[in-house]
Parts: sequence; C-alpha cells; structure tokens
Amino acid sequence: QSPAAITVVGLGPMGQAMVHSLLAAGHPVTVWNRTASRADEVVAAGAQLADSPAKAVAASDLVILSLTDYQAMYDVLDSATSELSGRTVVNLSSESPDGTRRGAEWVASHGAHFLTGGVMVPAPMVGTPDAYVYVSGPADVLAPHQDALARVGSVRYLGEDPGLAQLMYQANLDIFLTSLSSLLHAVALLETGGIKPSAALPELMQTLAGIPPMLAAGEDLGAQLEAGQHPGHLSTVTMMGATADHLVEASEAAGIDADLPRAVQAHYSWARSRGYGAENWSRIIDAIRPYV
Ligand code: NDP
Repeated sequence: QSPAAITVVGLGPMGQAMVHSLLAAGHPVTVWNRTASRADEVVAAGAQLADSPAKAVAASDLVILSLTDYQAMYDVLDSATSELSGRTVVNLSSESPDGTRRGAEWVASHGAHFLTGGVMVPAPMVGTPDAYVYVSGPADVLAPHQDALARVGSVRYLGEDPGLAQLMYQANLDIFLTSLSSLLHAVALLETGGIKPSAALPELMQTLAGIPPMLAAGEDLGAQLEAGQHPGHLSTVTMMGATADHLVEASEAAGIDADLPRAVQAHYSWARSRGYGAENWSRIIDAIRPYV
C-alpha cells in the first residue's frame, strides 16, 4: 500500500520540517501557507502548493496544521469548512488546553475528526529518532494515521481528552521557558560582576545539566509528592529559602529585574510561614497547588 496523501497547513520552520520528513517517507504532500512564498522550498522538494485552504483540505484525508495558535486554525479553515466533513484534522499548534477543547468542538461541528498534538523537538530534529509528539483525542481516529504522524515524531498518546496533549505540552514548556529565562537572568547577574556571557554560560550549563542527576540521586520525588510527605535533611525549606532570599537581594543590589527570583522566594516564604522549614524543599509544591 503506497503512503497516503497528506496536507500540511502552516509552513513555519516546523511545518516545513514536517513536509520534508513526510516527502522523504514517500507521502504525496499538499501544502498551503498564508504567505505563499514560504512554500518555495518544500515545493522544490516535491510538495504540491494548493491555491486555497479549501483545495488544500480537499487534497487529503489527513490534514496537519502547524500554526502559531488555534486562532490561526479558525482564520485559515473558515473558508474551507465545506471540505472538512469526514477528514481527520491533526492540530500540532500551541494552545491552552481549554482552547484545544473548544477547537475540537469546532472541528467536530463541521463533521471532521480531530486530534491535538504538541511536538517536543525543534524543527531540525523533526522526523529524527529523537523526535516525539504528545497526542490526544479518540484512539480510533489516531490508529489509521499513527504511522504517518510518526514521520513527525514518535507518538506518545495521552488519552481521549483533546486538552491533554496541550496540557502535557504546556507543562513541558513550563520547564523550558522558565529555565531559559532563569539562565539569562543568571547571565545578567554575572555580567554585573564583570563575568562575560561566554564565560558564564559553561558554569551555568553545568548546573542546568546537573539537575536531573541531582533529583535522581536524592529522595523519590514522585513518591513524596504523591504521598504529601516531604522528609529530608539535605535540602530543607529553611536552607533553600535562605538562598532564595539571597538571590533576591543579589538581584536587587545588582539592579537587574528581580521578579523571577521573587516568585521563587514566595514559594519558600509560604512554606516557612506554615512551619515547614525542616522539611524537604519539595514541600513548596503546596504553595503552587490550588487546593491548599
Ligand atoms: P511560526 O510562527 O514560524 O509559523 C507559524 C505559521 O502559522 C506560519 O505558517 C504562519 O503563516 C501561520 N499563521 C500564524 N497566524 C496565522 C493566521 N492568523 N492566519 C494564517 N496563518 C497564520 O511557527 P513554527 O513553525 O515555529 O511553529 C509552529 C507551531 O509549532 C507553534 O504552535 C509552535 O508553538 C510549535 N512548536 C514550535 C517549535 C519550534 O522550535 N519552532 C518546537 C515545537 C513546537 P505566515 O507564514 O503567513 O506568517
């Protein structure tokens, strides 16, 4: 059986990388992009450029969207709704979980099947063995398209709720975005001491890379968080909270933005004020959870 035709709408770096990977696997690929010139490279590689979203949708049973957000889906597919019935739309664009659930209802109201997804690698890694994609939506909708989607990245299926894939995507971006901001915050702090970014980054990267082994070597974090028990004397709330105070002081003294360290400090202040000072640092989860 020859590889199925696939439509890709949205040709930013991610959409273009998906098209290349699908073409390499032998899929006939139809594309559409608001800015048509962004299709030049994939057309040179063998993709067909449709001249309207409706024609792009009509070309394939499987329609992959790689757009900035779900508003872009509405903007693009509004003129193509008559072609949607019976097709499968896989939206790999970023959105809030509730936004993806509303998107699922909108697509279903036009008679199409819908899967949501979050791609967990940057464009140069799309289609490589390290690429993976969180997907949610009906399992029977995913089954016939799983092999094709694996050309983007291996599929990690999370369940029927269309919001789950973006919940997982945003949770991972939670770590990614705050880590990148904290990395640059640390660079800016060191600059005030005369240490240039190129000298600062290797030191800071060591800490970033050291977090997973540190967590693996310590207590069973998952079990602690599930049990609501936070024993431990190696990294107490009191010790970590004192350091959080010092980081705020250092940032303020250096004259750099201190909002990020203040947000961290607030977690420890909460835990200390409730008498959790001798517990493990992981107690600060209760400063974040909604039910405390
Ligand atoms: P870009 O922002 O580069 O591309 C977005 C695409 O959306 C473009 O094709 C753009 O069209 C289109 N678009 C945006 N708004 C509209 C609109 N209102 N109407 C029509 N088309 C619209 O994004 P990326 O390729 O970088 O990313 C795509 C998705 O993948 C995003 O949701 C992103 O969060 C996610 N992602 C990105 C990663 C990355 O490293 N870049 C990694 C993992 C996931 P036009 O060309 O005309 O502007």
